[in-house]
Parts: sequence; structure tokens; C-alpha cells
Amino acid sequence: MRVAVVGIGGAGSAALRFLAQAGHETVGFEQFTVGHDRGSSHGDSRIIRYTYPDPLYTRLMADAYPLWDALEREAGEELFVRCGGLFIGPPDHPDMAETARSLTENGLPYEMLSPDEVRERYPAFRLQPYERGLFQQSSGFLRAGRCVLANVRIARERGAILCENAPVREIRRQRDRVIVTTETGIKEAFDRVIVTAGAWIGDLFQPLRLPLTVTRQQVVYLAVEEPTSVFEPTQFPVWVDVDTWWYGFPLEGRYPGVKLACHQLGEAVHPDRVHREADRSYAEEAARYAHTRFRGVTDRLLHSLICLYTNTPDEDFIVDRAPGMEGVWLVSGCSGHGFKFTVLLGKIAADLATREDCSYDLQRFSIARFHV
Ligand SMILES: Cc1cc2nc3c(=O)[nH]c(=O)nc-3n(C[C@H](O)[C@H](O)[C@H](O)COP(=O)(O)OP(=O)(O)OC[C@H]3O[C@@H](n4cnc5c(N)ncnc54)[C@H](O)[C@@H]3O)c2cc1C
Repeated sequence: MRVAVVGIGGAGSAALRFLAQAGHETVGFEQFTVGHDRGSSHGDSRIIRYTYPDPLYTRLMADAYPLWDALEREAGEELFVRCGGLFIGPPDHPDMAETARSLTENGLPYEMLSPDEVRERYPAFRLQPYERGLFQQSSGFLRAGRCVLANVRIARERGAILCENAPVREIRRQRDRVIVTTETGIKEAFDRVIVTAGAWIGDLFQPLRLPLTVTRQQVVYLAVEEPTSVFEPTQFPVWVDVDTWWYGFPLEGRYPGVKLACHQLGEAVHPDRVHREADRSYAEEAARYAHTRFRGVTDRLLHSLICLYTNTPDEDFIVDRAPGMEGVWLVSGCSGHGFKFTVLLGKIAADLATREDCSYDLQRFSIARFHV
């Protein structure tokens, strides 16, 4: 089968790899160069975790984990840092309680740690007496940018063709083929097309009126004091504060500091018009938070970056056939928590497009849910 993938970020790069590995004639179109920093999948880290208050996502992660392991093996490089993860909050907070229930339901181990136990194991952390740390050992972080590059490299080794700096402007059904037209007027015909255009998918499919809100999200790296060993992945898991939704990472290797961000919706933007400098006020807020949560994190901003969320109203993804356009499949709406699923979303999209086969109930991810 001849299959196009439009948008080679997190989900698209995975789809490209699965299609090429299955022996399909695969062509990827990316509007920028692969690995660019204007979408949602750039940078050094994204949290991977089973810990979700919603058991659907915990279950999906059971299928995503082995796919990440396989990517790492095939790529022959470290893409997944297995440092464990802490959900922090009052034990009766709905997100703590639901997450514990979801883990139990799925037979996954976890520990509920007191503030003293957390300090003993992870000396940089400071919990309030009323808080607990829900520790889950399978959490960690994915080296996001490198995962995208690894998928693409393997796909190309298996014969995939990649067209970079090739914005797709139109996708249209013509008789039994789907025609993809780029900005420069190149037209190519395919049996199937998978569109993984992230924050730009609404522009490509305007008649569908997808209720997506793209937001500008900020991330900062703050310098840490000696001894920096307490911020290494062996002593500093990834963490999420369920009360405030600040979250963060251990030292990742590139900067001598820790990354943190807040999972709250930033300013709504168009993806082509985004102010790419982080706000000073955001860095100050991050430092204020870090002082309450950690010993040894300073105010000194080492680095910042801007990234985009593509939000659906219910924060569930979109994985569906494009209505009225046979042979075209859409994946987007990852709503700020999708990177850990991109490998699975790429696999599902590749299977749906080429085999019309999928063992998942995709009702929650349908486009129809927006229009009922
Ligand atoms: C600050 C921040 C922190 C996050 N933290 C986490 C986390 O800890 N854990 C987690 O699981 N998730 C996290 N996420 C969410 C996750 O990163 C995203 O959900 C995921 O990367 C989305 O991948 P995608 O493939 O949908 O989009 P992208 O990776 O952005 O890919 C879309 C691609 O399509 C291309 N494209 C668009 N239109 C066209 C066109 N017309 N023609 C050709 N190419 C086109 C774009 O250039 C882009 O490369 C975070 C996101 C942000 C912003």
C-alpha cells in the first residue's frame, strides 16, 4: 500500500516507522525540518507514567510501554530514563485517590510514602506533613526529541521517504486515491493518508470545525546547588504535584539544573504566531514554587522553552477517520499529556489505515463526540 503521513512529530514519526517496518511504501511530509522546535515534541524530556486518575489511560500505557522498550532497543540508544515517579498531594485528593485505584485495578504496584520516607529516599524533596508521595517505579522520562529522530531514522532505513520543508496544503479524495498537495504545488496520490499535524490539524481540516484550542506552554530550567547528586535520576524521580499541577524532572544531562513547568493552560495562540521567549514572571513563579518543594533549587534561570498544547474540550485525544473522506485518518488533540502515547497512537493509526483493524474501542477519541 502507498501511505502518506502528514506531520512528522511524536505520533507521525511513530506511524512512519510502523508503516515502513510493515513493508508499505511510505512517504512522510513535514512542514519544517524533522526535530524542529515549533510544535509539541521537541526538547529533552516528557514524563512517562501509568499513574492516571482515569483507568483508560493506565490501560493504554500497558500497551505503550513495550513499544517504547522496542523503539529503544531498535534505536540502540537510551531513550527512556527509568527513574520512577512521585505523585505528590494529600492522600484524599481526588487525583491521588483515583490514581491509586486505577493502579490497583490494573494490578500495578505502587507505594504511598510519608514525608519522612520521601526525604530519606529523595533528599531534595520537601513534603508538607499532610502530603504523601505516591511512588510508581515504572515512571520516568522519555528523551522526546531523540525518540522522534530515532523513529525517523529507523523508518528511513526501512525505505520510508521523508519530504522536509514540505507543508501540505490540501488533502482530497479523488476516485479511489487520496491526493496530497504541498505548498509548492507538488501533488502525490496515495491509498491511505494519516494526518498527525498536531497543533495545525484544525487549519488543514477547517470544514470539520474541530474544537481544538492551541495554547502556549512554558518550561524553565533552574540551576541547582551542590551536592547536585541529589538531583540525578537515581535520587530524584519525575514528579507531579496534584494540587498545583507543577511537575518536573531530574537532571537530564544537558543543563546543570532541573526542568519544571505547570500543567495549566497557557495563552490561546495560533501555532504560526507564538512568542517564543518564556516570560520572566513565569520563571519567577517557578522559582517560588521550587523553593517550597525542594532543597537546593535556585532562582537562576538556565534555559527556557516554549511548547504547544493542542487541547480538546475533554482532554481525550482524537483518533478517527476523517468524516466524509475515506482513506484519511486523523490523530491529534493530545491535550498536553500525549507524548507517552505517541508510539501507541502511531501504531494504532498505521494499523487502522492499512488493515482497518484495531483492538481498541476508540469511541472516546472519536470526532463525532464533539458534534452530538
Ligand atoms: C511543555 C509541554 C510539556 C509536556 N509534557 C508532557 C509530558 O510530560 N508527558 C507527555 O506524555 N506529554 C507531554 N506533553 C504533550 C506532548 O508533548 C504532546 O501531546 C505530543 O508531543 C504531541 O505530539 P503530536 O505528534 O500530536 O504533535 P507534534 O509533535 O507537534 O507533531 C505535529 C507535526 O506536524 C507538522 N505539521 C503540521 N501541519 C503540517 C502540514 N500542513 N504539513 C506538514 N507538516 C505539518 C508539525 O510541524 C509537527 O512537526 C507536553 C507538551 C508540552 C507543550
